[in-house]
Formats: sequence, structure tokens, C-alpha cells
Amino acid sequence: MRFETASGLFVETGHAPDRPAVIGADRTLSWQAFRHEVDHFVAQARALGAEADCPITLCGHKEAAFVVALTGCLALGAPFLPIDIAVPLARRRQIEQQARPLLAYDCASGQFRRLEESPRPLAEKGLAYILFTSGSTGQPKGVQIGRESAAELARWLGESFGLPPAPVFFNLAPFNFDLSMVDSFGMLELGGTVVLNDADTQQNGPALAQRACDTGAQIWVSTPSAAFQRFLDPEFCAARMPDLTTFLFCGEVLPPAVPRTLRRRFPQARILNSYGPTEITVINTLVEITDDIMARYPVLPVGRSKPRAWVDIDPANGEILAFGENVMRGYLNRPDLDAEKMLRRNGRRGFRTGDLGRLEADGLLFCAGRLDDQIKLHGYRIELGEVDAALARLPGVAQAAAIALRKSDGAVIRLVGCYQPETGMEIGDWRQALGAALPAYMIPSEVLALPALPLTPNGKIDRRRLLELYSGNTRACDATNPSPAHS
Ligand code: AMP
Repeated sequence: MRFETASGLFVETGHAPDRPAVIGADRTLSWQAFRHEVDHFVAQARALGAEADCPITLCGHKEAAFVVALTGCLALGAPFLPIDIAVPLARRRQIEQQARPLLAYDCASGQFRRLEESPRPLAEKGLAYILFTSGSTGQPKGVQIGRESAAELARWLGESFGLPPAPVFFNLAPFNFDLSMVDSFGMLELGGTVVLNDADTQQNGPALAQRACDTGAQIWVSTPSAAFQRFLDPEFCAARMPDLTTFLFCGEVLPPAVPRTLRRRFPQARILNSYGPTEITVINTLVEITDDIMARYPVLPVGRSKPRAWVDIDPANGEILAFGENVMRGYLNRPDLDAEKMLRRNGRRGFRTGDLGRLEADGLLFCAGRLDDQIKLHGYRIELGEVDAALARLPGVAQAAAIALRKSDGAVIRLVGCYQPETGMEIGDWRQALGAALPAYMIPSEVLALPALPLTPNGKIDRRRLLELYSGNTRACDATNPSPAHS
């Protein structure tokens, strides 16, 4: 059996129906049981008034019910809004205020909650999901992904990734990070299995290795950072995880040390690199990192564009532009952002990624940093502007800006919050206050008080000078503040 994203229907394939579909952190569902639970979810949601084009919030953490619910939403034609339990309540409320879902489903208890009096269909029809990412104005922004884009992703996974029949995906990304859609849509379309690993298991090397071994996991899907963390653990090797034969990376720069280490630990495994912002449906390019590629390129390529889509470089500024069915329908209720980021070419949707890049004659794409203040920290996408806004809302803060500290290879290692205190006021327990508004990965590791934040000639906060101030550059320090205070 499998589930076809394009039609939203289960399709019989003749595969044994007792094969697992979802191995959740809590329980396992065979394809037969999975179908039964999806039908039940659809019936319950319909009885509560769910309709096509009316979004449903799904909240949980790696329960089998999460995959049941997202599949149920696809069957209903109701876009799902995935929210991990790690998302603070205040942020979840911001998301729900923007999307106005009729229902919220709690994956741990299996209970629905009604949030609106009556269904409010979205202006955009036929969406598969809405994924909220960090927004530079301080509000998360909703990326609207059409069913056609999700179906294209699923089709491409079957066509071009050289996956085994009925593949077993090892899911590591949280559901509110769109990388998890690779595992879910891949498992559905190809009639495979998805193994969901909760946060505790992911931190426990031997437990994770045992789980990969017990479940026969074949395809590891993560950011390079998530794999890198595992390298400290000697059990992260083919001898302990013999079925793991494909590593698929996305979400941030793939440092050559990751494939080099994997070659030693998993000599038979294929290593795939891919690239794509959430706005172009998870991933858009693909390349196998072979020994030849590693020898030829000190900075690894992110791949060639998928079929029926293309990438280009804007000659004006070197920005990567993406075109095709995979491009989102637009941001939820943000025509201002759509005007800035969306374009059309040859009748197809296009998206300005904000990434700088280089395209070789053979179609191989390379990433070369960002045009704006968006960063990646341990694989998480963060708009520094969103951290600025949360810092600025703290009592005792007059003005604030976050800076990203980087290693020599450019990878961000941590955030520092710089702020100008309000006269006579204390900032108090800023960590706790920020924790109520932001996910943990967005919280700076320290804050630095300055009498004034330096500005660029056109009046914007000068993050470069803030970095100089932070690292104790005396010339910059003398100019604005002889003794900045860290805490
Ligand atoms: P997200 O929307 O969270 O997937 O983040 C998308 C951003 O991550 C892209 O716009 C890039 O800046 C970065 N990114 C994703 N994949 C790669 C990659 N393979 N190499 C370099 N940067 C990447």
C-alpha cells in the first residue's frame, strides 16, 4: 500500500499490509493500521466541521499520530500547520492568529480542540501545508506550500534518489522544520516506513544506533550539524547500523569533514547533498558527494536542479533564483513580502532565495552565503531581526540587535544579544523572558549592554561594528563605549 500525495488517496500496491508504515517514538503502525487511523482522523475532523482549504494545527513530538494526522489532512484537503511541542506557547498563538485554523489536534492525546466558531477557508486553495519560519519583523511568517509542490517532491524522491523499494526513512528533524517532510512524503509516496526519533533518543548515541539497527533504517535525513554531533559517538558506524546506506543532507553548508568522516564510518553508504529554502518545498537540487567531487571542490556543490524546475543566478546581484512547481504559493497574508520575493518567468512561479550562488556550465550549483541577515545555527533558520524584536520587547531594553559569532569557515557558532538599556532599569532574567517567546535555538548565549547601538550611514543598526565591539576592537570600542558590560 502507499498514499498518493497528488490525489490524497491510498493506493493498493500488493505489498504486505502488515509492513510498518510509521515507527513512532511511542508505537508502531502497520500500513493497514495506519490507513485505518487516517480514516478515523478524517471522520473525526469532518464531524467537527473540517473542510478543504481550512487549516488544522498539528501539535506534538514524534508520535505516530503526527504522521497519521498530516496524512489525514492531505486526504481532507485541509492544509496542516505542523508545530513541535518545543515551540513556546506565545509563538504558537502568533501562528494561530495568522492562520485562524478551525481545529488544533494534539498528537499525544489524540484530541481535537476547536479554535474558531466556523471554518475560515484560506484565500489560497489546494495547499498541502503551511510552515512557519523565522520572520525578520519579529513575527514568524507562513510559507504556503501547494499540493502540487508536495506531490512534485514526492515524485522526485521516487525518480532520482536511487532509493530502495519501500524505503525506511530515519527521521531526525522536528516536524516544524520542513526537512521532516522528506521522510513523511517519501514514506507515503513510496509505500515505505518512517522511523520517528524523539529528542531524548537523538541525544543518546547508543540508543539511536540501537534504534536504527532494530528498525532497519536505510535513509538518514538531517542537517550536517545533526550528523556531526553523532561523530563523537564511536557506535555511529556501519557495524552498528548496517542498513543505513544513504545519507541525505540539507539545510546548511555541508562541510567536507562530514562526508570524509562518513566515508570511514560507513564505507558503502551514498552521501547526497541537497539545497532549498522552505519556500521551494524543502529541497530543490541534488548531488551525490563522490570521492571525485570531494577531490575537485574544496567547497562542496549543492547539486543540480530537480526535473521540471530550474535555478538561475540573478546577474544583478548574484542571487539564486528558483523556478517551477516547487515554488510556494506565497506567504500567508503577506502581499508585501510576496511582492519582494516572488517573481514569474515563462509562466512559472519563481522565488528570490536571498542566497548568493554560482552555477557551473554543467548545471552544478554552489552556495556562497546570504544577501541578508538570515543565518543558520546548528541547522536552524533564524532571522536576526526576529531575535532583535524579541530582545527589544524585554523590560529594561531601549533598543537591541543580535549578532552571530562565526568560525573561520563561516559557520555560526552562537548568538550574542546587544542592547541599549533604558535609563535606570535592569534587564532582569532575560533568558527566561526570551524563552517564553522564542524557541531555545534562537536565544542568545549572552547579552552585552552598550550605551548606544552603532548605526550605518543609512541609519540601520551596524551589526559589523557590533561584532567589532564584542570582540574588543579598541578603535570601534573607543568610538562608542569604553566599557561594554557582558552578562
Ligand atoms: P530552511 O528554509 O530552514 O530550509 O533554510 C533554507 C536556507 O538554508 C537556504 O536559503 C540556505 O541559506 C541554507 N541552505 C539550505 N541547504 C543548504 C546547503 N546544502 N548548503 C548551503 N546552504 C544551505
